[in-house]
Amino acid sequence: MPISPEIFAERMRTMRPSTIREILKVTAQPEIISFAGGLPAPELFPVAEVSAAAASVLAKNGPESLQYGPSEGYALLREWIADEVRSRGVKNVKPTDVLVTNGSQQVLDLVGKIFLNPGDVVLTENPTYLAAIQAFQTLQAKFVPVPTDEFGLVPEAIPELIKLHQPKFLYTIPTFQNPTGITLIKERRAKLAQIAAQHNLLIIEDDPYGKLRYRGEEVPPIKHWDEANCVLYVSTFSKTIAPGLRLGWVVAPEAIFSQLLIVKQASDLHTSSFDQRVAYAYLTQNDQTAHLNKIRSAYGERFDVMDAALKAEMPAGYTWTKPEGGMFLWVTGPKELDGMALLKRAIEQKVAFVPGRDFFPSDAGANYLRLNYSNSTPARIREGVKRLAALCRG
Ligand code: PMP
Repeated sequence: MPISPEIFAERMRTMRPSTIREILKVTAQPEIISFAGGLPAPELFPVAEVSAAAASVLAKNGPESLQYGPSEGYALLREWIADEVRSRGVKNVKPTDVLVTNGSQQVLDLVGKIFLNPGDVVLTENPTYLAAIQAFQTLQAKFVPVPTDEFGLVPEAIPELIKLHQPKFLYTIPTFQNPTGITLIKERRAKLAQIAAQHNLLIIEDDPYGKLRYRGEEVPPIKHWDEANCVLYVSTFSKTIAPGLRLGWVVAPEAIFSQLLIVKQASDLHTSSFDQRVAYAYLTQNDQTAHLNKIRSAYGERFDVMDAALKAEMPAGYTWTKPEGGMFLWVTGPKELDGMALLKRAIEQKVAFVPGRDFFPSDAGANYLRLNYSNSTPARIREGVKRLAALCRG
């Protein structure tokens, strides 16, 4: 059948292909040192422990674990998640508030579907997570950036933006933000919750990296201050166990939960029964703190190596963020830098990163680079930065 462009829905016209997915295809080659993907360190995946958990699930509950399950999620895992979210400083979370999803990415899709009509406005940090841009762009949303600085977004700017644009919600990654690594300071979290309550602003708080703090003081989620229940709290097992399990979750009040459940059912009926049970068995059979400490110390060391290498090698005119956790840092280059052109030359030198442009809902951001430090060994980080800096020096 000949495929004409008109056959596709109108929404496909506003979507851009993701540069990062295209890059990842190239960077999968082992000789390329990749700072591009958002990949955790695979050598830290708890393979033996997950294998033991899977064996115990199949031995004890084989048929149930391979059967269809409830759309809300596996009851024991929902209980575990509610305890976990409470331990992060969010009071009054009940297991029935927890919807288990196919990665936290699915939450963004479901949230978009239940709230966004074409032309609706979403407030975001600028830059923001590129697959959130994609998820909301599919629904033909418009993006309005909230002013940000090195302490995160500026809450005081929001009332005016609400007045001007009547946004459906604010999407924010307040801790070790993707792509910048910036963390919203405590005072601004409390202020943001207060502004949300005053203006009935829904906040989607996306927190995949909060448990990956290798330095500095813990900051509770925005939801900690959320007396008025304006915040949907989203998180994932992707960075603490493994992304291949595709397990995430959202904590939502009943009126929103029931709508999310309807679209979740339409989308995939439920998240894998088997994966949920394996994750639950893994979490209850192993020492989580010890495992997280291993990840934190490895990522802290890798950040230090990358930071020191950048300091030693990069020419004047380049600066970068110094995150206290997470997996990324964000390089600001001179105004005239074209990140996309630099990437093409970098791939020839067998090093890769993500050009900043994809993280801006508008066409801004050509002079930024996102570098991932979780997925390369210290030796490869040193070598990769050396190659990249040589290109930046021209
Ligand atoms: N939100 C943010 C900010 C992310 O960086 C990612 C993944 N890198 C996700 C959501 C999606 O993660 P997952 O679907 O694996 O939970």
